[in-house]
This record gives sequence, C-alpha cells and structure tokens, in this order.
Amino acid sequence: MIEALKEALAVSPDNIPLRMSLADLLLGEKQYSEAAQHFKEVLNQHYGHQQAQAGLAACYFHLGQYSAAIIIYEQLEGKLKDKDVLLYIKCLVKEKSLEKAAILYQGLIALSPSLADAELDALFRVAGNGSFDNDEDWDEDASNDIFLEKPDINFSDVGGMQKVKDEISMKIIHPLKHPEIYKAYGKKAGGGILLYGPPGCGKTLIAKATAGEINSKFIAIGLHDILDMWIGNSEKNLHEVFETARDHAPCVLFIDEVDALGASRSDLRQSAMRHTINQFLSELDGIDSNNEGVLVLAATNAPWSVDSAFRRPGRFDRLIFVPPPDENGREEILKSQLKDKPSEAIDYKKISAATAEFSGADLKALVDRTIEEKLEQSFRSGQLSAITTRDLLQMAKTMQPTTREWFSTARNYALYSNESGQYNEILEYIKKRKW
Ligand code: ADP
Repeated sequence: MIEALKEALAVSPDNIPLRMSLADLLLGEKQYSEAAQHFKEVLNQHYGHQQAQAGLAACYFHLGQYSAAIIIYEQLEGKLKDKDVLLYIKCLVKEKSLEKAAILYQGLIALSPSLADAELDALFRVAGNGSFDNDEDWDEDASNDIFLEKPDINFSDVGGMQKVKDEISMKIIHPLKHPEIYKAYGKKAGGGILLYGPPGCGKTLIAKATAGEINSKFIAIGLHDILDMWIGNSEKNLHEVFETARDHAPCVLFIDEVDALGASRSDLRQSAMRHTINQFLSELDGIDSNNEGVLVLAATNAPWSVDSAFRRPGRFDRLIFVPPPDENGREEILKSQLKDKPSEAIDYKKISAATAEFSGADLKALVDRTIEEKLEQSFRSGQLSAITTRDLLQMAKTMQPTTREWFSTARNYALYSNESGQYNEILEYIKKRKW
C-alpha cells in the first residue's frame, strides 16, 4: 500500500489527500522520520493544514522531540482530537510541565474516560471515579515508573563538553566495558562522579547520554522530590529509588540537587537530615545490597553545600566542573536545537560569538523564543517564513545569560573556601573570562 501511494504521489506530487494518506500510513507503521517529511510537505503546500500539523507533532513525539511537538500542540489547543491531546500531555510530562499536563489530563478523562492511561493515572493519582487529587506530591512508586527510561540519546547529542565526556568515559564507561583490564591493574570499577556548575549547562543531559552510551536504563531524581523531613518518609523513598535502580541494572542513577542533603547548611532540620544522609551513604556504599551495575552520577549547583561525607573515597570522590559551553559548544548546541526547524543558512559562528556565557538551556530558550516569534509573524502574515541569523541575533540581544548570577556566588567560594584546590576550575574559568 505504501509503495502504491508513493508511486501515485510521484505522478501527482501536489495531491494533498494522497500525501496525507501516505503520511498517516507511515505514522501507523512507525516510520516517523519519513512520515514527518510528508506532513511537512503538506504544510508547505497548504499552510495551516491542521491534520498535518497534528500528524507532524505526533511524529515529533515519537522521535523524542518533545518541545517541538509542544510548540505545535499549543497552536492547536482546543482543536485537537482526544488521542492527540493524550500525546500532548505525555510531551508535557517529558518536559516536566506537570501542572499543565495534570489540568489537560483531568479534562480529557472527564470527557473520555476510556482514554485513561495507567502511567498518567499513577502519576496524577486519579481515583477510580475519575476525580482528581493532585494536591499531594506524587508517590515514589509513580515517580519510579515515570523516571525509569531507556534514553535514545548518546554523547553525540551533547554539544561540546569534551572534557566531561572523557572523564565519564574513563570512570564509568571503560570500566563497565572492560572490567578485566581494570582488574588486571588491581583497580575496582566504581566510585561516583559529582557534576557541578551553573544550572542549565547539561549536567542532566550528559548523565542521560551516559546511559545511552552504555545502552542502560536511566533514572533521574531530584533530592528535593524525595526529601520528606517531617513525615519521615525520606529514607523509604531513597531506598526505593536505589532498589528500582538495582532491579533494572545496568542502570545510571542520576541524583540531582545533592546539596539538599547538606549538613553544612545551618538548618533546623539537621538532626532529621542526619538520618537521611546516613541512609543515603549506606545505599551508596551498597552496605545491605549489591550495587553492581548501578552507576551513580550526582549533580549540584552548590557543591559547597554538599555534605563532606559524600566526598569520601569510593563515594563521590570525583568532582567535575560542567562550565557553560564554549564558542564551539554553543555552535553545536545551536545546530542541534535548530535541526529540522525551518531556517535559512544560519551563520552559527556569529550567533555563538554573540552569546558568550549563555548556558545550554539559555540557548534552547533563545531558539524557542525565536520560533515562537516566527510563528506569531507567520500567523499574522499568513506566510511561513524561515528563521534567519538576524532573528536569532536580535532575540539574543534581549536576553541575559543566566550563568552570571551563579558565577558571582561561586567566585566567593572559589576564592575563600578553596582549601584543597577543588574549585580551581572555577577560578580558571573566571580568569579566562577576564573578570
Ligand atoms: P543542568 O542539569 O546542568 O541544569 P540540563 O542538562 O537540564 O542542565 O540542560 C537543560 C537543557 O539545556 C537540556 O535539556 C538541553 O536542551 C540544553 N542543553 C544544555 N547543555 C547542552 C549541551 N551541552 N548540548 C545540547 N543541549 C544542551
């Protein structure tokens, strides 16, 4: 059928219903990239074709390009079919826009209860009668389900960061792939890595890509999510996260915000926290369980607040600085963010030069905002226009890099609390930036 439609299209390439049938069939056959091309072609020929837009968004969803899908779904809100609303909700969950996802899901199943989705139910705790209860935090079982993923990205999807990639390769990937070599030198594989640096510079992304490199499962948690000081559930929550990782080994367990468990914080909750810290350490050391195949990567924006017990040998004994991307890194990130977007030949060097100190997340925001503006323009003028270097440069001028604030704090620690030289990399970076 697909071949027959392709032949027919070769004869009449402007036949939109024919191309839509082919695109829908390809989508049904999970040939997402090819289906996307045909949906795009329909949109070229018939601007604003809603079914093609929804089809394209579905392709983006299946290709893991959630933010691209969301941009389209936002434009179509109120006009989407139920099954597309469900995909929209899943994209929002992936991009952590949980509040909006919860509202849409509530509306969807109120109208069409048959569309209830087990994973989303667990996430939003929908009671059997369809009533809704999203006041409480999601429980750990739900968060385990939702965070356990098999990443489809690897190091090549992470722009720049060569030094970080090399260190992770040496410390995590090689030991896993060649345990015999490590053994021969009397070295045990293991020991955690603590990534630190300004927010939005790719710590989570590189952890996820590490799982992709070794083809393992990936769990990401923020410690704030599982700290439950007053009710005393933190230890149980922590244990369940580690157990899930052990059950799914090989697994990269990424723990963000480890500073949340900092005994160095002058915090009234310290004594309660001590229990949780001890629990964390025994999980990490694998005292009561076997951590084989569980690779722990942790991250923090505030390494100076991380409890010193975490930094002992065999634990997070390797501190890696993840700086904002350099000029080449920015170029790579911009290229990957603009991939598959309608754009003219972009002068990446120029934009990269104009976005010094931008984090990866800032660059993503720059592209997203430019696209939003372009979409608005297109809707006003009725013409689809491509993104240009000028659009991006103009948008960059309106933005401030978010990394500056981090460096102004980090600088003080690097200057005055750098006893063992652990923050030398911050000083080097600041020096290079001539501050
Ligand atoms: P962090 O964990 O350091 O706060 P993230 O890894 O969550 O930062 O990065 C936020 C987003 O910014 C990522 O999802 C990605 O879209 C983009 N990004 C950041 N760094 C990079 C990079 N080196 N290459 C590609 N994209 C990046």
